[in-house]
Amino acid sequence: MSFQIKLQGTDISFVCQPGQTILDAALKSGISLPYSCRKGICGNCAGSVTEGNIQPHGSLPFRHDNCAEGQVLFCGCEPSTDLVIQPTSWKRSEDGAPKTFTARVYRNELAAPDVSVLQLRLPAGKKIKFRAGQYLLIRMEDGSSRSYSMANAPHESDGVTLHIRHVPGGYFSSRVSTLKPGDTLDIELPYGHVDLDEQDNRPVVFVAGGTGFAPVKSILDGLLKKKAQRQLALIWGARDPSGLYMQSAVEKWQKFWPDFQFVPAVNTVPTTSHGNSYFVGRADEALACRFNDLNNHIIYICGSPGMVEAVRQTALSCGASPKDIHTDSFVEGPASQ
Ligand SMILES: Cc1cc2nc3c(=O)[nH]c(=O)nc-3n(C[C@H](O)[C@H](O)[C@H](O)COP(=O)(O)OP(=O)(O)OC[C@H]3O[C@@H](n4cnc5c(N)ncnc54)[C@H](O)[C@@H]3O)c2cc1C
Repeated sequence: MSFQIKLQGTDISFVCQPGQTILDAALKSGISLPYSCRKGICGNCAGSVTEGNIQPHGSLPFRHDNCAEGQVLFCGCEPSTDLVIQPTSWKRSEDGAPKTFTARVYRNELAAPDVSVLQLRLPAGKKIKFRAGQYLLIRMEDGSSRSYSMANAPHESDGVTLHIRHVPGGYFSSRVSTLKPGDTLDIELPYGHVDLDEQDNRPVVFVAGGTGFAPVKSILDGLLKKKAQRQLALIWGARDPSGLYMQSAVEKWQKFWPDFQFVPAVNTVPTTSHGNSYFVGRADEALACRFNDLNNHIIYICGSPGMVEAVRQTALSCGASPKDIHTDSFVEGPASQ
């Protein structure tokens, strides 16, 4: 049985089909709510149900540390009656419903020993519409899908570039380096709620772990294209310098924004690097060391869930306001359909 869900304080309501989560029903109806992973892990879709009853969606968790008193995760529950909900924010989606394409591998290169940069092109005449910081799903032969962030800026719309870390034993990522030009992949996009406000001129500190660099690159290349003038900084963490695989992009930003601060944070530095320009330690430690006053700063964190949470806690302890911290967690495993 389907249920009506109303946004509190508005006359906007939408239908939730049987077995659909509150989040998916909103997205399908063109209502954009904050979210990232859709797997109950990142906590970005926390909000309140002010009237009606809900039930868990399968085995997904519907509570999270990010949930304030009485809040639930909209990706982890479905209605069992009509509802009134109060998300932390909402807007009418500019993206429209995600579209499916059969994309062709155009180029596939190893950028680091365990990172493939995969360029996909669309059939002639097709354009991809997405916003910097969003992600796509790649459909697998077994019916599951995997999420990957676009690394190219939205104005480069004839294809997408993905940065994919090889997870040992991973169903898709461990064989991504075997894909050859001309091979096809079914992709669906755009996904992801991006709430970095381009009109807000406060300084931004990006903190990326490994291939968490991909959406950061998309956002920074997009800002560069618009010749945005902002105070920008990037902390990029990896196990060792080989994991910081695209220095040419960083050099381009440093050239355009002479005050651009780049902090490469690595756990180990080979003796040949002398260790001079590296911060030796984790990304959260680099943040605390180099940016101890984050009051009135915007923080954008992207990478593994553990790294994202550690950096979020550090940002809070350095004075960042929770509403100015934006996170994009690369939660492992198949995405929900
Ligand atoms: C919104 C979003 C955006 C993402 N964007 C990117 C991106 O741009 N680049 C990127 O490289 N990844 C990204 N990911 C992660 C990606 O979707 C896959 O989870 C990852 O590539 C592993 O898929 P797989 O099929 O190889 O592994 P699976 O077959 O799904 O997993 C195999 C095994 O490896 C473990 N595992 C899976 N992923 C990891 C991991 N990251 N670290 C440690 N163990 C793991 C699993 O628990 C499982 O035991 C993103 C995830 C989300 C939710």
